[in-house]
Amino acid sequence: MSKLFTIFGNPVSHSISPLIHNFAMKKLNIDACYTRTLLKDSKEFKNVFLNSKFDGANITVPFKEVAFESCDTVKGIAKDIKAVNTIIKKDEKLIGYNTDALGFYEGIKSSEGIKSVLILGAGGTAKAISFILKDRGYNVTILNRSRARLEPFVKNGFNVYSWSDFKIKNFDLIVNTTSAGLNDNSLPLEKELLKKLFCGANFAIDVIYGRQTPFLKLATDNKLHSKDGLFMLLNQAVLAFEIFFDYRYNFEDIKESMKKAMSLL
Ligand code: NDP
Repeated sequence: MSKLFTIFGNPVSHSISPLIHNFAMKKLNIDACYTRTLLKDSKEFKNVFLNSKFDGANITVPFKEVAFESCDTVKGIAKDIKAVNTIIKKDEKLIGYNTDALGFYEGIKSSEGIKSVLILGAGGTAKAISFILKDRGYNVTILNRSRARLEPFVKNGFNVYSWSDFKIKNFDLIVNTTSAGLNDNSLPLEKELLKKLFCGANFAIDVIYGRQTPFLKLATDNKLHSKDGLFMLLNQAVLAFEIFFDYRYNFEDIKESMKKAMSLL
């Protein structure tokens, strides 16, 4: 029987998930369709999902936390992050996962020489990345502009700093998870401090994708191995696709077709 999937978000019209999932389904000869659902009110999330014909969904900003709360069962690292971006419906029950986190990890796990990681920012993306990396044995430090958002990280035993109390040291990988550079030309940290951090590092990743942010430019100028967040977007989609179809399709085959879809943009 034909299967139906969607992405919930607000806004959601910009999402490329329908394109890449539909492309992969077609390539792999799967009888299924992936749509977009604009949700106005987070309170409607569970009812809309349960009263729909959707077999599964991805969830984007700002519904990942309410999606977590709405699940009957939550799997893996999503339990610690308390946010889910992928759900499947089984026997009218919702089962949730966080593939953002694993998607990031997939993209760095084979890079040698990464033991310590500095994460800039303390929002939802920082949480997903830092929890999975800590779980996989990396030494993770969080540095955020303000203190307010650091509380969940303190509770979970991370090294945390705000701009006012940060003391510089060496980290192998620096990750920008702030929105600095998304729609402007700002850096996520004062330039001279960032340069010093880059001097002691080998790798830099900006989770923003589709443009060379000032952060990535500075990292490249300082001869670091660097990349944007496209790999994370791609990997989270491949991992979600695996879950949607109960791991019947090969990771590399799904990835190949989704990459092809992205290249058509
Ligand atoms: P949040 O709104 O949850 O968090 C934003 C964080 O950025 C906060 O810690 C905030 O600090 C900090 N911040 C914002 N502006 C600045 C600035 N000018 N200088 C320094 N710090 C700043 O955002 P998300 O975690 O949801 O998203 C963050 C980024 O990740 C976005 O750019 C988004 O596009 C990208 N993203 C990429 C994905 C991918 O697959 N590649 C997936 C999901 C998101 P404070 O607490 O002080 O306000």
